[in-house]
Amino acid sequence: MRPEILNPLFAETGSLDGVGPKLRKPLTKLGMERVRDVLFHLPERFVTRRAVPDLDAASVGEQVVVPLTVAEHRAGRSQRGPYRVLAHDAVGNVCALTYFGKAAFGAKKTLPVGARRWVAGRLDQYDQMLQIVHPDHVAESSEAMMGQLTEPVYRLSEGLTQPLMGKLVDQAIGRAPELPEWIQPSVLARDGWPDWREALVAAHRGEDAKARDRLAYDELFANALALMLVRQQNRQRRGQSLQGDGRLRERLQLPFPLTGAQARSIEEIAGDMAQAHPMLRLLQGDVGAGKTVVALEAMLVAVEAGAQAALLAPTELLARQHYETLRRMLAPTGVEIALFTGRDKGRARESILMGLLDGSIPIVVGTHAIFQDKVAYRNLGLVVIDEQHRFGVGQRLMLTQKGRVTPHTLAMTATPIPRTLTLAQYGEMEVSRLDEMPPGRQPIDTRVLPVDRMEDIVGAVERHMATGQQAYWVCPMVRDSDSEAADIAAAEARYAALQHRFGQDVVLVHGQLAPELKDAGMARFASGGAKLLVATTVIEVGVDVPNATLMVIEQAERFGLAQLHQLRGRVGRGSEKSTCLLLRSAELSETGKARLALMRESQDGFHLAEEDLRLRGGGELLGTRQSGEEGFNIASLEQVSRLIQMASDDARLLVENEGGLDGAARGEAARLVLYLLERDWGVQTLRSG
Ligand code: ADP
Ligand code: MG
Repeated sequence: MRPEILNPLFAETGSLDGVGPKLRKPLTKLGMERVRDVLFHLPERFVTRRAVPDLDAASVGEQVVVPLTVAEHRAGRSQRGPYRVLAHDAVGNVCALTYFGKAAFGAKKTLPVGARRWVAGRLDQYDQMLQIVHPDHVAESSEAMMGQLTEPVYRLSEGLTQPLMGKLVDQAIGRAPELPEWIQPSVLARDGWPDWREALVAAHRGEDAKARDRLAYDELFANALALMLVRQQNRQRRGQSLQGDGRLRERLQLPFPLTGAQARSIEEIAGDMAQAHPMLRLLQGDVGAGKTVVALEAMLVAVEAGAQAALLAPTELLARQHYETLRRMLAPTGVEIALFTGRDKGRARESILMGLLDGSIPIVVGTHAIFQDKVAYRNLGLVVIDEQHRFGVGQRLMLTQKGRVTPHTLAMTATPIPRTLTLAQYGEMEVSRLDEMPPGRQPIDTRVLPVDRMEDIVGAVERHMATGQQAYWVCPMVRDSDSEAADIAAAEARYAALQHRFGQDVVLVHGQLAPELKDAGMARFASGGAKLLVATTVIEVGVDVPNATLMVIEQAERFGLAQLHQLRGRVGRGSEKSTCLLLRSAELSETGKARLALMRESQDGFHLAEEDLRLRGGGELLGTRQSGEEGFNIASLEQVSRLIQMASDDARLLVENEGGLDGAARGEAARLVLYLLERDWGVQTLRSG
């Protein structure tokens, strides 16, 4: 249960003065449902204005506060044209106060002709005339403004204004209680950090690095603490010690020797599985590093020890592919394997359910359907989760709650993320890294081209297809509701154009298609029936078509480097040389160019991830980047890198040496921060475990 002292912060935004249904909408759009969300909606930046006696003392582009006398109102020539209020300063300079749309209504009231007003805003020039577009403030006296020469700038959406947002934040701060301190006094003193409430006030009032750091630390600490509690609780859970005798693994006839990294990972996993508490291990390895074999060996350990193993894939398509691969590899061992998806019906479904229940099916591959309540296992010993990044911690934990005895969990991800972020996202797990590629990989020839060379690019695709090889054409699909429709439309338009040129050789697959259509399209491409696959990022995960050796990625700058790298990993799977063409917008920032250049220069996912982090640096938040990432809404990437180690160490200390939430002197305060930052799953699992 959430501590009562936090309740005012968890009330809906509707409980704030002035927030009705109309304001709820833009607030929700920005992720603000409750008072706490408003409280943590920290300014993006601050403007500092200069008070000037007249416009001669100001320069164009500057943020100013200036007294002006209103001379004339000029309505727009058309409905959509700007509404201008002409005013002059003390020395006769004319300045237009310009309004678009509904904003003009307010101007009529606040700027009567002949009145003298203090106006705050950014001084611009338009057609030789000075102007201020949508002044931030208009006031009758200077006093109202002078206290606010520095002001926060919040991220807004349609229907919100800066002053409105400021008022909501003020109210939210008013509701924030004094909370007991969860950070050790020595740490606070060392870094000169304010207490929580002070930090919030300061972070909204002005640039204050210490305040921002403290709040970022709180978020990282809460996250680390929750992960640590999960980890600790896991150690107290009953698992089953599984020790294989090797008799099945011996019979595998792998056509290649394992890489050193594969052998080491298998050993680490087998070591964990032999323990009496459940394994929680993450296998990190670049696309093509050979995670499947590692998973297979782990599953055989379970089967040798008389238990069952389940492999969970994020999509039906991938489940099918894994099933086919594993079935082939398992053939010489005689071990049965079944595929189970949500779509199985009737007899087939019943027979798999029976087999899982009586243990005659030792290995099952499927989508999350394999964890439905109706599915019971005789003795599930190991769960392998492929492409981990699609699941959040919460989901991860749910999966292993099945049965009296918790199964061992092996999570696998191909998303190369920097070490610091691994700690933030998978802190409850041990990590094995496949940092060595199987021999004989050809580097993928990667080129960056401006999109205006479209004709050449389509020509290259045509020549490529003429050789009998296949190609991918990837259109961006950024998962936010604003651009989703536009992204789908763009993909469909591209498909139409390419189909016009190449006819039936082209197939389109995107996330909005019905699963049957999607699978049918993929199957046609995989079987060679289609030569060119136009897709949004649904192909990101796992698809394996060795004959596809060319990939075109549109608007490459919109992707994260890790994602680009993963996409690129779809080619270069066969013996032929592969090519990846990254199409970029004509205009691109220096950082944007540098990021794409990195793709050309490196094929090492871990290296790319570290560099991406370095280049993106501060400002950018983690929260909205890629699907499934554990979101940090307060801490910037830069703060994560800088503060995560300390937050993790402090959380570990509290949990391991100070007796956890119940024992430590700061235990109650630590419980507060878990709830405050919505990491209370860390406590919830403690309960149910
Ligand atoms: P991923 O880590 O992306 O899941 P896969 O397990 O699909 O990678 O392996 C990619 C390819 O590399 C497969 O064709 C697999 O058979 C092959 N492979 C795996 N391990 C080795 C190895 N040690 N030597 C050579 N090829 C390997
Ligand atoms: Mg794989």
